[in-house]
Amino acid sequence: MPRLFSAIEIPRPLAERLTLLRAGLTGARWIDPENYHLTLRFIGDVDGMTARDFAEALGAIEMPPFEIRLNGLGSFGGNKPRAIFAGVAPSEGLNALRRANDRAAREAGLPAEGRNFMPHVTLARLRNARADAVAAYLEHQGGVFADPFIVNRFVLYSSRDSVGGGPYVVEAAYPLED
Ligand code: ATP
Ligand code: MG
Repeated sequence: MPRLFSAIEIPRPLAERLTLLRAGLTGARWIDPENYHLTLRFIGDVDGMTARDFAEALGAIEMPPFEIRLNGLGSFGGNKPRAIFAGVAPSEGLNALRRANDRAAREAGLPAEGRNFMPHVTLARLRNARADAVAAYLEHQGGVFADPFIVNRFVLYSSRDSVGGGPYVVEAAYPLED
């Protein structure tokens, strides 16, 4: 069964710049820049028919391109930090695209997403990283701001069946057009 999620790709020049943040934190497993992505809707392992229905519903989304900007770093996991991410500046276009992806999932018969949408780009997974070391890292690197970029397509990715993780494969791409 394919394991799927829809996402926005990170342009290569920005991905290259983000790799400059891969320093100064022990216990971090840094994500390869070609695997950076901003998840729109996580689907998980589904049967082929559901996968096709979701892909088709995504194809019906009509939206103009929009701009987003990464703005600063954070961590997930509180006292037991498990990931470092780059956050995303609030964007109406992004919210609309997320809603459209949710709708497509519903049309494919998938259950509603329980969690709130927290747009982010994961930069590292952490194993046994100390909370104070993560805080010091974020203090040091967290103020880095990036130029905005234009989102003119989104994609349906597959990750490794059941287990997840990269390399992610683009199964379909969906252009955004005026
Ligand atoms: P790994 O779990 O091995 O670290 P991964 O999380 O990158 O790999 P997947 O588990 O296939 O790979 O997840 C793909 C994307 O979907 C990732 O961006 C992940 O953060 C996100 N994701 C995974 N599980 C969920 C979930 N239950 N709800 C929302 N998003 C999720
Ligand atoms: Mg995962």
